[in-house]
Amino acid sequence: MDPAFSPVQQLLERLHSRHAGDDSGEVASYIPELATADPSWFGITLVTANGTVYEVGDTRRQFTIQSISKPLTYALALEAIGEEEVRRHVDVEPSGDAFNSITLQSGTGLPPNPMVNAGAIATASLIEPLGFEKPIDRILNEYSAFAGRELTIDEAVFESEFRTGSRNRAIAYLLQNSGVIEDEVEGVVETYFRQCSTLVDCRDLATIAATLASNGVNPVTGSRVLREETVKNVLSVMASCGMYDAAGDWFYSVGLPAKSGVAGGIIAVLPGQLGIAVYSPPLDEHGNSVRGVSVCEEISGLLDLHVMTPARRPPPPVRDERTLVEARSMRLRPEAEQDVLSEFGDRVRVIELQGEITFAGGEMLTRTVLEDAGETEYTLLDLGAVRGINPVVVPIASDLIDSYAELGGEILFSAFDRLPEIREELARFRGARDLEMAKDFPALDPALEWCERQLIERHGRVDEPGELSLAQHGATLGMSPDQVSRLNQHLEPRSYAVGEQIYAAEDDDVDEMLLVSSGDVNIFAGETTGGRHRIATLPAGMTLNEVPVISRKSRLGFSQADTEVTAWALSNESLQQLRAEDPDLVCTLFENFLKMLSVRIGHLVKDLLR
Ligand code: GLN
Repeated sequence: MDPAFSPVQQLLERLHSRHAGDDSGEVASYIPELATADPSWFGITLVTANGTVYEVGDTRRQFTIQSISKPLTYALALEAIGEEEVRRHVDVEPSGDAFNSITLQSGTGLPPNPMVNAGAIATASLIEPLGFEKPIDRILNEYSAFAGRELTIDEAVFESEFRTGSRNRAIAYLLQNSGVIEDEVEGVVETYFRQCSTLVDCRDLATIAATLASNGVNPVTGSRVLREETVKNVLSVMASCGMYDAAGDWFYSVGLPAKSGVAGGIIAVLPGQLGIAVYSPPLDEHGNSVRGVSVCEEISGLLDLHVMTPARRPPPPVRDERTLVEARSMRLRPEAEQDVLSEFGDRVRVIELQGEITFAGGEMLTRTVLEDAGETEYTLLDLGAVRGINPVVVPIASDLIDSYAELGGEILFSAFDRLPEIREELARFRGARDLEMAKDFPALDPALEWCERQLIERHGRVDEPGELSLAQHGATLGMSPDQVSRLNQHLEPRSYAVGEQIYAAEDDDVDEMLLVSSGDVNIFAGETTGGRHRIATLPAGMTLNEVPVISRKSRLGFSQADTEVTAWALSNESLQQLRAEDPDLVCTLFENFLKMLSVRIGHLVKDLLR
């Protein structure tokens, strides 16, 4: 798709032109080299958690990352030496002070958080080279993974800050004096100044933000950069401390974890959805890009991105709720059995679940299931549309299985193998208490069939149907005995073993139909048994393959004997002969085919009509 037609692109373009005219703020000049930036440079990039990039303006102009490096080095430190060790050197408390304030926390004597200079310098001191020549090489390598390309350092900006960075040196000496950093100050500030001088463009920053948004996987390159746990820690400090002494205001109005840098970059992250980056050098009094802040405020409002938005609740876990009165498997059943299902079907509840099931969803589900336990014998939970289950739901589900059993019912699952880890976790959890895993079925259809069978066995009678005579077959309804015997002369007996293929999907030259006289026939859609999807199971008395023979169209799927099957084959050639001999007979035959077809269609649309 040409991105010019995308509504998202158009939105960014409108935002860009609206804010380009705002020339308030000052370009940072305390690092002399930064003062050379043109205040009109302005780019906006948005990268979604699935890697789509939208950009407008100066998004390929390189500038130094500055403080946006802080959360990245913090992430690296957390993974390199562990959270506990990092927390011994830096707190996670918003300070309300400016980014370059020279104070430590009064109680702990530690830098307040890793987003202000003191905390960032302390964090940089924790990085060992580990296989790289210097700590900065390892840091740069990490940043490159975040951006998805090889990043370099702007030597001019580095030199400029290295020459003039007395304030940061003062902070570093304070840290050394209080034992927060052990290495000599010059080496540590050099690493810190270098990391701040990493060259990025707006697109790199948005990719970095999107990597944080997609749980630590760079959505453009697809490679994992951080563990999920680290992402949570990093986003938390970004949310509370990322915008320095404006952090409270920012979170109130924009509501996204963010980080700014004095060269004019800002990143903002909506977890699970997207990363935004803005580049515009003029800064406000807090050292945050003026246009960056207003663009983020506006995008957040327009697109409803604030993480505290009440609408950001997960969808309800129950997609649909039925009983076996309405929900039926693909097996066509004789009327007596259908009557049992209509009468007793409400003893089986079928609950289709969806989406991500978290604690709240699990709790809601337990209420739904237990609501009329006692009146139901089975509750089938179909996981076919579930994307994920939070492990905290495992003990809840296990208790639910037990409580429902105490009330006399049994919980069943279908499509649980789509979530093998959770399934294993539940089995393990229950195994520990020496209890069996609940029954689970590969898909909804076989689970429904199993439930139908239980109800029919319990509340009705299972007729083991014998072999039908031709006169009893659905195809001969309303024919005279003469016509039945005439038809008989054109039929050829067939039999199939259990599981035997009857018609394959690929042979197009089958020019016969089958009148099933005993056993059941499965019809599957799809080419192979691996990817099969049952369309119907036909009992004795029904006809197979009559539609392709009459319509001269190829078959939809393939058929297979579900039990031992006997049948009569009627070839197209015989059908044509019969038509010449006795058009009336063929007319009755076709009427009967239509009746059988209407039964099949009625069964298929049962679900659609409720
Ligand atoms: N290198 C800059 C400094 O330490 C980074 C500050 C910032 O971007 N806020 O002063």
